Amino acid sequence: MTEVLNQLFIGGSWVDAADGATLPVDDPATGEILGHVADAGAKDARLAEEAAVQAQAAWARTAPRARSEILRRAHELILERTDELARLMTSEMGKPLAEARGEVAYAAEFFRWFSEEAVRIDGGCGTLPDGRNRMLLSRRPVGPCLLITPWNFPLAMGTRKIGPAIAAGCTMILKPAPQTPLSSLALAGILKEAGLPDGVLNVVTTSRAGEVCEPLLRGGRIRKLSFTGSTAVGRLLLAQCADTVVRTSMELGGNAPFIVFDDADLDVAVDGAMVAKMRNMGEACTAANRFFVHRSVAEEFGRRLAGRMGALEVGPGTRDGVDVGPLIDTVGRAKVEELVADAVERGARVLVGGRTPEGPGCFYPPTVLADVSPESRLMDTEIFGPVAAILTFDDEDEVLRRANDTPWGLVGYVFTEGLDRGLRVSEGLEVGMVGLNTGLVSNPAAPFGGVKQSGLGREGGRVGIDEFLEYQYIAVPVR
Ligand code: NAP
Repeated sequence: MTEVLNQLFIGGSWVDAADGATLPVDDPATGEILGHVADAGAKDARLAEEAAVQAQAAWARTAPRARSEILRRAHELILERTDELARLMTSEMGKPLAEARGEVAYAAEFFRWFSEEAVRIDGGCGTLPDGRNRMLLSRRPVGPCLLITPWNFPLAMGTRKIGPAIAAGCTMILKPAPQTPLSSLALAGILKEAGLPDGVLNVVTTSRAGEVCEPLLRGGRIRKLSFTGSTAVGRLLLAQCADTVVRTSMELGGNAPFIVFDDADLDVAVDGAMVAKMRNMGEACTAANRFFVHRSVAEEFGRRLAGRMGALEVGPGTRDGVDVGPLIDTVGRAKVEELVADAVERGARVLVGGRTPEGPGCFYPPTVLADVSPESRLMDTEIFGPVAAILTFDDEDEVLRRANDTPWGLVGYVFTEGLDRGLRVSEGLEVGMVGLNTGLVSNPAAPFGGVKQSGLGREGGRVGIDEFLEYQYIAVPVR
């Protein structure tokens, strides 16, 4: 394994925090400290901002093909180092190695996708309706960006923002989550090796997020915030961006409905449920949070899902054969425990799981709850753990109304063999993405994002780069 990077990355150099502070990084499977990284403060943030601002003009002038080649090279380097990146990610975040390898491939794909988009940034030229004036349209980078990422997909949430920012010609400061800084620092090392000029990407790891980010957002030199995280923090950051009218992209929380109709193929639905619920131990914004199952098939669906969930192997992500790693920390696990206890108190039946194991590490068993009351707290709280909560419904209008009865709208899942019904219900869901007879929607080539309080803007797909570009229109009268 190559050296683990643990300093700040500013202006192309690895440096300690100005005040020498460090923060520990834990292994959630053991609770042990893996190591320490620099803990940036406001002064380091200013240095990173200065580096990004200074690098912006030259980077914007860099040929799109050159930007594209850096991304392509970084894509190759990530794939070459799949195993070591996966091990690093598992050690700081907990997901099983097989899933970590999957995330490395998913993360790398954003770089390949945006290397292809970098050379396809369009513009235009046209005649205005008066017949005299011409319109020249060009697309320009927004400018220096602040990218804030969560801990649940330590590499992919970074590449999903860094890829389009590099492709568009923006410089940036990345602030990863303090639980998982090592993957982001490794990514910075790879981009440096791939030839990214100094100052284009700066990484500040910190336990003092507000102290580091607020001055940047209010300072007037950062022109764009791309944030992935909870709705509560997103709301706060939107308010901070308002003063200097910073452009924003917000990928926020979800509360996904998973709807199984009576005509669904139950094998397909259970396969879909395993992915939609258990990807990343349920710690995903796309995780199915509320299972609405038609009354006539609910018992059978619950029985089969409990059988599959109960057969999963729980343990440290580095151990062979493990399907379910630890949750991120004791706070995350305590929240899952409280939500399950509340649901059981309100009458839910535990079909499998539901008991926290003894011993070290933040483990929680795959759990299926049936007969969940609509009043339960987990109906309007992201569970963020391996708990499937099943409710029943009787007809299509009713389930649509209940599925949409939430402030969130990231993703929904629909299982039915009827094409008409599948499309009708998908279109009726107030969400940015739908899995129709599938439990997986994430793909770098598709626009990822939500409506309502799940966010603003889209990442990935053809439109992902738009978030980092502005139009400029030049009027030219022809005499
Ligand atoms: P979080 O608590 O909102 O934190 C996300 C990031 O924001 C972290 O880096 C965090 O750093 C930072 N942050 C918190 N307060 C801040 C402040 N005042 N100023 C600047 N940065 C601040 O979310 P999380 O617990 O890490 O991640 C889980 C959430 O992310 C869930 O709600 C999930 O649904 C959502 N998510 C959404 C998507 C999507 O694409 N829609 C994808 C993945 C995750 P600190 O921890 O140091 O505060």
